[in-house]
Amino acid sequence: MAVCKKCRREMLEADSCTGNTLSSDGLDYARVRFGSEAQWSDPQWKALGIEQGDRCGDCGVSVGGLHHLDCDMEECPKCKGQLIECCGMHASGPHLVR
Ligand SMILES: [Zn+2]
Ligand SMILES: [Zn+2]
Ligand SMILES: [Zn+2]
Repeated sequence: MAVCKKCRREMLEADSCTGNTLSSDGLDYARVRFGSEAQWSDPQWKALGIEQGDRCGDCGVSVGGLHHLDCDMEECPKCKGQLIECCGMHASGPHLVR
């Protein structure tokens, strides 16, 4: 079991993490919640489907929740890439402020 470094809760028990916003270069971006990722419109992802009550396969949050820190499913609100390895908005870096 893993405890989230951000909200300090057990990842598989908390429905959502805390911290709505990421900031980069002085601009704030609303974090992408589980189920709202752009990739769900990709046919391959769409085929997998996502339903109310599903939980993130990586960090365990519920649909509509904020991913826990360092989840590899979280999408970057700026470049739509994978947040943990994208444009510098890495969630555990200096950018996660709120
Ligand atoms: Zn968390
Ligand atoms: Zn997640
Ligand atoms: Zn990015």
